Amino acid sequence: MSAPLLSVEGVSKRYGAVVALDEITLDVGAGEFFALLGPSGCGKTTLMRCIAGFEAPDAGRLTLRGENLAGVPPYRRPVNMMFQSYALFPHLDVFENIAFGLRRKGAREDAIRARVGELLEMTQLASFGARRINELSGGQRQRVALARALAPRPALLLLDEPLGALDRKLREETQFQLKEIQRKTQTGFVIVTHDQDEALAIADRIAVMRAGRLEQIASPIDIYEKPATRFVAGFVGETNFIEGVVARDGGAAFVTSFARLPREECALPEGARATLSIRPERIEISREGQGIAGRVEDYVFRGEYTLLRVRVAPDAVLRVGAYDGRFAIGDEVRLTIAPEAGVLFAEAA
Ligand code: ATP
Repeated sequence: MSAPLLSVEGVSKRYGAVVALDEITLDVGAGEFFALLGPSGCGKTTLMRCIAGFEAPDAGRLTLRGENLAGVPPYRRPVNMMFQSYALFPHLDVFENIAFGLRRKGAREDAIRARVGELLEMTQLASFGARRINELSGGQRQRVALARALAPRPALLLLDEPLGALDRKLREETQFQLKEIQRKTQTGFVIVTHDQDEALAIADRIAVMRAGRLEQIASPIDIYEKPATRFVAGFVGETNFIEGVVARDGGAAFVTSFARLPREECALPEGARATLSIRPERIEISREGQGIAGRVEDYVFRGEYTLLRVRVAPDAVLRVGAYDGRFAIGDEVRLTIAPEAGVLFAEAA
């Protein structure tokens, strides 16, 4: 990667006894769409506020385009923030809301007209310039807030749960728009979200946080397919956690209460207790043949697939994604877990 746009090096922040950020280190590239993902209270907003300059870290360093940000006030940083509440000005029309930052910087009237016109176009609000904020839908307000934040051409845009107020259908549509606008403007975007699906859908890279610490930074595919920790595996997407013991006699295998599962790669020693994380859609299901015998106990219809709960032992139920065929409660099935499927975590992970 070329020189990063933003470098966060060993940043820590505490509030009394609470360690909100514990030595966070990460880079955001120029033109990158970066997501901070984690459960409530993990420190996402605190990190965002440190980047914006609303909070000062207790330790560590923030650098933007090579400039140390220590002591640089928020308004002097080439960073803008879009708040979840949008914080639009109700007494101004759409045009003036978007123009706000430019006017404050003393931009010339013709430059303001040109820039606001461009943004109205980009956010599909071209005919809404004269509308008042209270005459807009939720999705339109969200786009005004985005246009306003982009107007002064920040190098980095911080978005705190930007789609949180939208319903599911609109959220999906808006994810596409947000990605497209990010690509067009080539601005670094850092989005805060606690919605795993949103992070997977939208980001070039995701940082998963937990209790003030970084668990993993990787592409959405790697976060999903190669979670670095048990926490990441459980937090992002659905998974089965299967407890067992590693066997290494005659090829590596993972021995559980209900099966001996051959494993392709296994760095753990013979006898090690471990947990296999396996996604429901990576378990193959059929009605007959080889494999682990089980019985369908329950299912939920999810549209493109059906999520089955299959009992494979008195103490073990697996969640299995079935894309073809219909299954009924009580059906006898066979399950197969390929030797390369899933990720094995040492018990301590
Ligand atoms: P959410 O998704 O709920 O917004 P978050 O991941 O953004 O959560 P933060 O808001 O960064 O989490 O909070 C991290 C921790 O720091 C929490 O335990 C929170 O209670 C604490 N915290 C945040 N701001 C303050 C503050 N100003 N004073 C005291 N404690 C704070």
